[in-house]
Amino acid sequence: RTVYVNGSYLPEHEATVSIFDRGFLFADGVYEVTSVLGGKLIDFAGHAARLQRSLDELEMANPTTEEDLLEIHRELVRLNEIDEGLIYLQVTRGAADRDFAYPEDATPTLVLFTQAKSGLADNPMAKTGMKIISIEDQRWGRRDIKTVQLLYPSMGKMAAKAAGAHDAWMVEDGVVTEGTSNNAYIVKGNTIITRHLGHEILSGITRTAVLRMAQEAQMKVEERPFTMEEAKQADEAFVTSATTFVMPVVEIDGAAIGTGQPGDVVARLREIYIDEMRKAAV
Ligand code: PLP
Repeated sequence: RTVYVNGSYLPEHEATVSIFDRGFLFADGVYEVTSVLGGKLIDFAGHAARLQRSLDELEMANPTTEEDLLEIHRELVRLNEIDEGLIYLQVTRGAADRDFAYPEDATPTLVLFTQAKSGLADNPMAKTGMKIISIEDQRWGRRDIKTVQLLYPSMGKMAAKAAGAHDAWMVEDGVVTEGTSNNAYIVKGNTIITRHLGHEILSGITRTAVLRMAQEAQMKVEERPFTMEEAKQADEAFVTSATTFVMPVVEIDGAAIGTGQPGDVVARLREIYIDEMRKAAV
């Protein structure tokens, strides 16, 4: 596999980053994951815009321009012959003598790599649905910044696995924030309910697109908090993320949602999302 590091395309075993990199020492870095369908990028502009916002919030320099970044993405897709899969991008503040204060002169580190993954669009999970558990949200207070501090979400995935589930939804002050690596939704009749944006959740690029498409399809959207109790009573539930798109949730903390099978509203949203995003891919 060919990867990208600070201006060079290299075989993965030749790519190196300093042990003094602040991404490694302080999780002082941000990332983006963009999916690839038919060799093209899904919502690249959305990911590039959020990357810039994450960097701005952390006063970190952007090592590249949106135009150059698009070229790097495309070149990696070409070099690795990715038809379906994802591109991971990470920017860290760079290498510097270890000190909590930001260094003044560090050069940011930019790393990208691809992962080929068949079955993103034709994901069998879309037919069966996910089982999720709830856990307390113990992450820091700026979840709107897409940082590489992912240990608590990893612990959540492990707790879900141990419970025989696929993922966990996180609960804070009695309401659901989001999933470990996705935004969380419930459906009641023709209404989609998902937590409003703020520092408490990541503004999903998929979330933005899906809420727009839901409204265009005459569904109602309510951006407000919901409890686990309300979720268990919902007709349908789902999550969204760049790599799972729209994925049905059929069980929450052992309780079946609706019929216990993926429902029509979520199936329809998934189809609309994949169709439209394929057409708009770059
Ligand atoms: N929320 C969290 C905590 C995430 O980690 C992610 C994606 O990784 C999302 C939401 C979904 O964001 P997106 O749709 O941009 O992938």
